[in-house]
Amino acid sequence: MMYDVIIIGSGSAGYTATIYSCRAGRKTLLVAGSISGGQLMLTSDVENFPGFPKGILGPELMENMRKQAERFGPDVVFDDASEVDFSSRPFKVKVGNTTHEGKTVIVATGASARWLGLPSETRLRGRGVSSCATCDGFFFREKEVVVVGGGDTALEEANFLANIARKVTVVHRRDKLKASQILQDRALKSPKISFVWDSSVAEVLGENKVTGIRVKDLNTGNASILPIDGLFIAIGYDPNTSIFQGKLELDSKGYVVTKAETETSVAGVFAAGDVRDYRYRQAITAAADGCKAAIDADRFILEEYSQ
Ligand code: NAP
Repeated sequence: MMYDVIIIGSGSAGYTATIYSCRAGRKTLLVAGSISGGQLMLTSDVENFPGFPKGILGPELMENMRKQAERFGPDVVFDDASEVDFSSRPFKVKVGNTTHEGKTVIVATGASARWLGLPSETRLRGRGVSSCATCDGFFFREKEVVVVGGGDTALEEANFLANIARKVTVVHRRDKLKASQILQDRALKSPKISFVWDSSVAEVLGENKVTGIRVKDLNTGNASILPIDGLFIAIGYDPNTSIFQGKLELDSKGYVVTKAETETSVAGVFAAGDVRDYRYRQAITAAADGCKAAIDADRFILEEYSQ
């Protein structure tokens, strides 16, 4: 089967690209992945996605997007792409034992937030443990929160949370930050932000919601309890690009390099959402990106394949 567009990934970028591609009359395959829905499947309430005045649960929003995309008749496989060949057209995408061919490909495989790897952190995710202050900070108005990390994301999250929470503590494993100077200056000057240096989170405390953390001083080995309401893990993201190594230009962190919006280093292969964007990382910006990629793929087919 030769597809016009093969979309890899089923977060808000992938589903939006599918809706636009099908509605443009393009024969579309969505490779939705074995775990579909992307990062919003790990979120509870989503209150910043326009169109839902009362908010919506992340998994419900993704279920709605899936149904909306499927309404327009794409072929969908709920399995992972294991291999791609972008060396010549038609492009090839291997899923299980089947190799699909496409005139264009949209890469929308997203990125995954890094977690500390503590069982208590996993248990309380969505119950006070979060990886996104923009998404969940609002729930901590006038409360006490901790941000873990010392990079740009951590300080951006801390600065954002300082406008909402009563107190923000940054717990960092070293005595130096690696964030850009402007973010450091802002955080260090804020009366609401304090720092715990050379320390790591040993355990997240709480039965059904976060009530505190056990912090370990890495110099002395001593542990202490810090009572808090929310814990934001901001220790970086990993773009899901392992199958594109050597096939597309990636930056030093592994994100797909794009020019002119969604174009990648291979003409006819487009990228959308968090797999190319570490700046905004929002469901709405990923959805917008998916829309752009589908329009770009449609125009590419018009230019390359019409007589
Ligand atoms: P990052 O720069 O890799 O920083 C990750 C931070 O988390 C580091 O301070 C690191 O500690 C710490 N860390 C990593 N693993 C840890 C663990 N297991 N336990 C505790 N701490 C851990 O990641 P990022 O801040 O997400 O930034 C990623 C990229 O996006 C960067 O290039 C950044 O500049 C960019 N970014 C830019 C902006 C902006 O321009 N506004 C905003 C956000 C991100 P160490 O310091 O010890 O390594």
